[in-house]
Amino acid sequence: MTDTLHKATALVREVADMLGLERRHPHLRLVERLTTPDRVITFRMAVQRDDRSVEVFQGYRVQHLDILGPYKGGIRLHPAVDLDEVKALALWMTLKTALVDIPFGGAKGGIAVDPAALSPQELERLMRKYTIRLADDIGPNSDIPAPDMGSGAREMAWIYDEYRKSHAVARSVVTGKPVELGGSAGRREATGHGVVCVLQAAMRQLGMTSPTIAIQGFGNVGGQTARELFALGHKIVAIADARGAVGNPAGLDITALAAHQQRTGWVSGFAGGEPVADIIAVPCDVLLPCAMENAITTANADRVRARLIVEGANGPCAPDADRILAARGVFIVPDVLANAGGVIVSYFEWVQNREGFYWSLADVNTRLSERLDDAYRRVAATATQRQITMRQAAYCLAIEKIANGMVLRGVQ
Ligand code: GLU
Repeated sequence: MTDTLHKATALVREVADMLGLERRHPHLRLVERLTTPDRVITFRMAVQRDDRSVEVFQGYRVQHLDILGPYKGGIRLHPAVDLDEVKALALWMTLKTALVDIPFGGAKGGIAVDPAALSPQELERLMRKYTIRLADDIGPNSDIPAPDMGSGAREMAWIYDEYRKSHAVARSVVTGKPVELGGSAGRREATGHGVVCVLQAAMRQLGMTSPTIAIQGFGNVGGQTARELFALGHKIVAIADARGAVGNPAGLDITALAAHQQRTGWVSGFAGGEPVADIIAVPCDVLLPCAMENAITTANADRVRARLIVEGANGPCAPDADRILAARGVFIVPDVLANAGGVIVSYFEWVQNREGFYWSLADVNTRLSERLDDAYRRVAATATQRQITMRQAAYCLAIEKIANGMVLRGVQ
């Protein structure tokens, strides 16, 4: 078992212990059911490259738990994807959907591939093959994929189109589709928009007014978060992508930086800032890790200068780092709350597809911020009441809700 997966399940055990779950329900094996996925699907896909050579890719879908509704979760396209990572991400989806009160369980999919190394035609063949392999396992009422790192609306359109060839009811099989094909207004922006909502709630709680902000990641989540914060007049002092980082203590012009990235592909070389060696160590009040897991570990946690971390990515603070940061008084808003905006609007998309009635962007965003504000309030109140961290509090609420679902459903 890799470290990430081991630590993800360890925290579930710790919180289940805190809640006395096994003691309260001694025969239901709640912890085992919470920590072990219901179903793991792994498969190989042979795909023809444009030069007619064949390449074989490894695909995954992990269906973690569907106590509260159909399995739900994105598909990650990244060369480092492996089974343990997908299992950890699927577990986090189960907790996330439970925490923000949407009627889904948790799942995650992945393909070990660098999507940038394939032509659009090759990628389309790969995504269609992935869908064919899973056509009997996904479905509007059973398991609903969505975008994750490396995939977006284009890939979801291919999944929808391929699934539709064999199923009459197909729109709600996948969320994050292009708006033209039944995607929801605001879905693409939803995760970043949610990070901003949650950051604002944390700032209110901590009494922060005009913080300096550093962001790791300038993709769908980090990029949207940066653009919104800049539009709101916040000072973003550094931004990193997978290649490098730029900073400017007077604040980066995010519109100009986005144009530079559009032109060159990366943030480095931007004339409106200086190169930054380590985004984690940048002097700032707020750090937003919006890229990969384990960005902050025991190796660099003591270099963090921020007072507040809002986890736009899934699992960016390793649990051992969590302890170091907590001891240093850094306030962390956990991933299962901070980046839940994406799956919340995925739920809205699923509802709209089933009703055939589409909402305005303003309606989507109002309903999104209501749900996130409510979840934030519940997590903050639980953390205060129990004198625990925001992450432990979020896990408490999610696990308690899932455990209740298990008890109510019973076992035959
Ligand atoms: N991949 C996103 C996440 O990690 C969104 C999942 C979804 O919309 O189903 O939350």
